[in-house]
Amino acid sequence: MTDQTTSRSAKLRANRKARLGSESGWLCVYCGCRIWPHTITEDHIVPRIAAGSRIPDNRIAACQDCNVRKGHKRTMTFVPASRPAERINV
Ligand SMILES: [Zn+2]
Repeated sequence: MTDQTTSRSAKLRANRKARLGSESGWLCVYCGCRIWPHTITEDHIVPRIAAGSRIPDNRIAACQDCNVRKGHKRTMTFVPASRPAERINV
């Protein structure tokens, strides 16, 4: 992979995350905490391991904590550990 390819790939990923963040109001879809361009993660509604698609409709914005906790669970079966009122947003 060339530097140019890596740069293009990083730019596409950053654009995708910016779109997801904008669509979610820069809030995690699971716990509602504030997320930032440098902390947002792309979560797959149907996990890639369960043959989930890479298409945009299968991606949602999540904080790093929720994305790690969710792991390979499907979105409909994942319950975040805490609600926004119980969390300290930093
Ligand atoms: Zn979260």
